Amino acid sequence: MGNQKKNHKKNPVKGSGKKGNFKKSGHQEMKTFKKNIEPAGSSIQQSTGSSNSGNKSMSALQQKFAKKLEGARFRVINEKLYKTSGTDAFKDFQSDPSQFDIYHVGFREQAAQWPYNPLDGIINWIKNHHQKAIIADVGCGDARLASSVKNKVHSFDLVSKSKNVIACDMANLPLPDESVNIAVYCLALMGTNIPDFVREARRILKPSGILRIAEVRSRFEEEGNSIKLFRKFLKRAGFDLNVIEVPQNKMFFELECVKANRESVIDPNFAVKACVYKKR
Ligand code: SAH
Repeated sequence: MGNQKKNHKKNPVKGSGKKGNFKKSGHQEMKTFKKNIEPAGSSIQQSTGSSNSGNKSMSALQQKFAKKLEGARFRVINEKLYKTSGTDAFKDFQSDPSQFDIYHVGFREQAAQWPYNPLDGIINWIKNHHQKAIIADVGCGDARLASSVKNKVHSFDLVSKSKNVIACDMANLPLPDESVNIAVYCLALMGTNIPDFVREARRILKPSGILRIAEVRSRFEEEGNSIKLFRKFLKRAGFDLNVIEVPQNKMFFELECVKANRESVIDPNFAVKACVYKKR
C-alpha cells in the first residue's frame, strides 16, 4: 500500500540521518528542527506562534514578553495533553476551549519549521491510493486533511471550531463499529491512555482497515520505551504492521497498521513519553 518506501527493518539511521542522505541544506534544516522538538526532560529551544507578539503598537520589549508568554502557555497546554488522560483533556478543553487556539498557534509555528510534515505524506497517500476510503481523522487539529482530499472524512478533536469537526475524546469516538477504512492519528496519540485509543481505533475500523500513525520518534528513544515495544503492542492488539520510511523524514516515524482477523490483546499498561518543547 502506498508509494512510499516501506521497510520492515529497524531504521539503520539514528538521530539526524545517515551522512549523505540529505542535501546540505536539508540536513541543516533537520539539525535545526531536532533542537526544537525533543521528549520530556531534554533541553530544547522553542519558538512559538504569536498573534500579540506581532502587534505594531507594542514596544520591542513588550513584543518579546508577549511572545514568551504565548510560548509558555503553549508549552503548558502541550505538556498537559501528554500527561493527562483523554477523558480529562476533553473535560478540560471543553471547560476552556481557548486552550485549543493557543495550542494550535504554537503547534503551527513548530510545524512551519519542520522539513517534512507527516500530514502531507498522509494526504498524498490517500490521494494516490485510497480515493474511495472512508476516513476518520482523529486528533484532526485544524482539519487540514478533510479539506485536502475528496474522501468522506470524519474529523475529531477535543474542541470543534467548525461544523465539520466533532468534539470528543478519542477514547470514545461517536462512530459505529467497523465504519471506516482508514483511521489517521497524525501526532495525535497524546493522552496517557494510548491503549484505550488503540482499542477504539480497532473498533471503528472495518476488517482489513488501516490505522495510520505518525509519531515523534524521540518519544520512543529510551530503553524500555522503544519503537520495537510499540510495534509489539500494536501487533498483539491485532494489527499487521508496515513501517513507512520516508527518506527525508528522520524525526517522525510512521506506521500502517492493518486490522487483522485475529484476537486482540491490548496491554492496558502500555505508555509512551511526552514530547515537550523547552522554553527559550
Ligand atoms: N493531526 C493534526 C493535529 C496534530 S496536534 C496534524 O497533524 O496537523 C494533536 C491534536 O490531537 C490536537 O489538536 C489535540 O487537541 C488532539 N487531541 C489530543 N488528545 C485528544 C483526545 N483525547 N481526543 C481528541 N483529540 C485529542
